[in-house]
Amino acid sequence: MAAQDSVEHKYVYDFAEGNKDLKDLLGGKGANLAEMTNLGLPVPPGFTITTEACKAYLATGREPDGLAAQIEAHLESLEREMGRKLGDPQDPLLVSVRSGAKFSMPGMMETVLNVGLNDRSVVGLSAQAGGNDRFAWDSYRRLIQMFGKTVCEVPGEEFEHALDDAKRAKGTENDLDLDADDLRGLVDAYKKIFVKHTGREFPQEPREQLDLAIRAVFESWNAERAVVYRRQERIPADLGTAVNVVAMVFGNLGADSGTGVAFTRDPASGAQGIYGDYLANAQGEDVVAGIRNTVPLQELEQLDKKSYDELLDYMARLEEHYKDLCDIEFTIERGKLWMLQTRVGKRTAAAAFVIAGQLVDEGLIDLDEALHRVNGAQLAQLMFPRFQLDHEFQPVAKGIGASPGAASGKVVFTSARAVELAAEGESVILVRRETNPDDLNGMIAAKGILTSRGGKTSHAAVVARGMGKTCVSGADELDVNVPAKRFTVAGQTVNEGDVVSIDGTTGKVYLGEVPVMPSEVVQYFEGSLEPEHVDNALVRAVHRIMTHADATRRLAVRTNADTGEDAARARRFGAEGIGLCRTEHMFLGDRRELVERLILARTDDERESALAALLPLQRADFVDIFRAMDGLPVTVRLIDPPLHEFLPPLEQLAVNVAVAQERGEDVAKEEALLAAVRRMHEENPMLGLRGVRLGLVIPGLFAMQVRAIAEAAVAVTRDGAVAKPEIMVPLVGAVQELETVRAEAEKIIAEVVGDSGVEVLIGTMIEVPRAALTAGQIAEAAQFFSFGTNDLTQMGWGFSRDDVEGAFFWRYLELGIFGISPFESIDREGVGRLVRIAAEEGRAARPGLKLGVCGEHGGDPDSVHFFHEVGLDYVSCSPFRVPVARLEAGRAAITTTGSDSR
Ligand code: PEP
Ligand code: MG
Repeated sequence: MAAQDSVEHKYVYDFAEGNKDLKDLLGGKGANLAEMTNLGLPVPPGFTITTEACKAYLATGREPDGLAAQIEAHLESLEREMGRKLGDPQDPLLVSVRSGAKFSMPGMMETVLNVGLNDRSVVGLSAQAGGNDRFAWDSYRRLIQMFGKTVCEVPGEEFEHALDDAKRAKGTENDLDLDADDLRGLVDAYKKIFVKHTGREFPQEPREQLDLAIRAVFESWNAERAVVYRRQERIPADLGTAVNVVAMVFGNLGADSGTGVAFTRDPASGAQGIYGDYLANAQGEDVVAGIRNTVPLQELEQLDKKSYDELLDYMARLEEHYKDLCDIEFTIERGKLWMLQTRVGKRTAAAAFVIAGQLVDEGLIDLDEALHRVNGAQLAQLMFPRFQLDHEFQPVAKGIGASPGAASGKVVFTSARAVELAAEGESVILVRRETNPDDLNGMIAAKGILTSRGGKTSHAAVVARGMGKTCVSGADELDVNVPAKRFTVAGQTVNEGDVVSIDGTTGKVYLGEVPVMPSEVVQYFEGSLEPEHVDNALVRAVHRIMTHADATRRLAVRTNADTGEDAARARRFGAEGIGLCRTEHMFLGDRRELVERLILARTDDERESALAALLPLQRADFVDIFRAMDGLPVTVRLIDPPLHEFLPPLEQLAVNVAVAQERGEDVAKEEALLAAVRRMHEENPMLGLRGVRLGLVIPGLFAMQVRAIAEAAVAVTRDGAVAKPEIMVPLVGAVQELETVRAEAEKIIAEVVGDSGVEVLIGTMIEVPRAALTAGQIAEAAQFFSFGTNDLTQMGWGFSRDDVEGAFFWRYLELGIFGISPFESIDREGVGRLVRIAAEEGRAARPGLKLGVCGEHGGDPDSVHFFHEVGLDYVSCSPFRVPVARLEAGRAAITTTGSDSR
């Protein structure tokens, strides 16, 4: 039975059998070749071996049952179609064997061309090419080289050296000067190299060549560079690659042949037009190798008008069919155009918006689809300042764009120097081979970070992203010498103090200072660019798509803001209220002294007088914020962090007191302070006396804040504005905590608001796991919940949020324990489950309970989709992320089904 099943399993698809939706099975290249074939475009015939065959091969180390027979059958039909047999001595069919995974992994896996050539068919190929011996022998030597390197792991340099020797013997530096005899000699040399490294002759049997090449492509899925690339791009490791076996066509058969690439729109700007390059008398790999310069695609019109017109027609058809920007590879063999590849083309963030807008104008897609085609990460990229580049600035190196932004500054090589220079007001770029946790202070001080090693999940990359700092990692052309305080790149030496500029989006590194340009998209959000009056395709497209996202989304978007100024800016960015106003910063600066008085108070009177002095200051803070958010809800959170954070550090204070005592000075006040700091010192302040616990322990503290909020609301309302305060209690774990605070707060509110018409809601954060698990009880006492996913992640995982990201997350990412920091994107299964439970049980206990999130995740694209699915009412995030959250909330509403019931 099993044997029969495996025989029936289909591992090989003719191009005519597939289509573009079968990318999982046929890989991107195979699926699109099938699609073009079915559209009637001239694709060289061939077939695709599925990713399933690859996975079976990788799991067992041998081809699955039935694969060999299916390849045989498809090869026979290919031979019939071409009227030639693979490797036939008189008139050979040659094939290329190409990898092609579901997601494009450029250059990471293997390809073998000219399979089917051997000592006899090389003669047949020459005859086929009109007696072009040079072409035939050149093709043969390329096969031995590629096959030896990729299939049999012969070191590539050996072939390169032999080629150099041949050129030297001829007295030339150009491959094209080698004639047929030279190339025949080179084939002999290559064969010897092959024997030396493999202990066997170069295989002459065409089918054996084919089978070995297929196997090598399967295996290349697990080549080290492919593994590293996948990890960086977060491509799952278990997809496998498909293998495409395609009849060879040749672009190097003379002046009437050639090869090129084309884009149906400009992938950089999105502008419509014909973009691409062409190289006459060449094969694809010559273009990549850059041996000769390509010409703009438009010049093909003069060279071969028929092929050019045909290509334009196919490009238009592909765009119309894919309803998107396509990129294309093609070859012309003696005046006959062949389409070798197409796919929906990669594009810049700006082009993504512009093209989506154009396609709507052209009636090819609707606005929902346009919204689906862009994403929050792209929008975030467009909100960073950019370098203003002209020809003067050429990059000297390119690494990985690990954390976006544009930064210029003086080069430093140590954390200490970074801190020193930054303290003098200098902009610095910290350059390291790779960073480690000891570099943290330098990273904080620097404008940007540049490393010569490491990928997107290296320590530098992870930490920089967490800080929102520009970072280029893995710029391996840089030779960094930290002890000598210099690096060399492209033959130039850069010393400490020299200026460099790094682009964290493109990964490019420039010498000198490149001017920085503000983002037009931010100017638009801020209201200084009116889309209707702007001759800027990007701004218009962003406006249009954002408008649609706003009309489509179910989630409201609020902001986290603690000042009137931030609130006003967030409102311009589209915030529909404040989801979190943290009140702790209001206790800093010149108010510290009052807080010290509060903490040090020995009597009720002393404490009350300190609170009474704080009250008007707090009230003024809230008046500013309510005014900026006139008409919109404002969630004010009562004070959260441990009080000792408002006091001087223990060690420093102890030293000061000791020194003063030594000098015989009067230190009574300092001693009292020191005693208080000692008393309040905690080993784990994050799990200590903070949030609601503080409110329950220090009499009058929360009451003062509640009074300030209510009085501010009444004052603003009397001035004709509308204040909608929502008081939020932090760190609640048990309903009794909330009930106690609420009872006191309600009394004060009733007393203050009187008949002013002001309504004040009282709710809680859900940020302690116990609160999530007892949400049904807590909802009885809460008019709203706001999920504090920062603390919920901290306490759910037991990860100190201040320490772990810099300390060891790089290792967790490397090991794949998670693909992204759970502080950055919500851990759906764990912390997300707590959110889901609390949302469901809270709403079951109190139907209509208002639910929001105000942890950092509120502005993270993937998390926004999760919160939409869970049915929250709003997300709240920092002002700059408000547009991203609006866009993603819109996308969530169109990409999920069944969750729009509310
Ligand atoms: C949270 O814990 O998610 C939260 C918003 O509160 P904070 O970050 O101030 O602890
Ligand atoms: Mg918190």
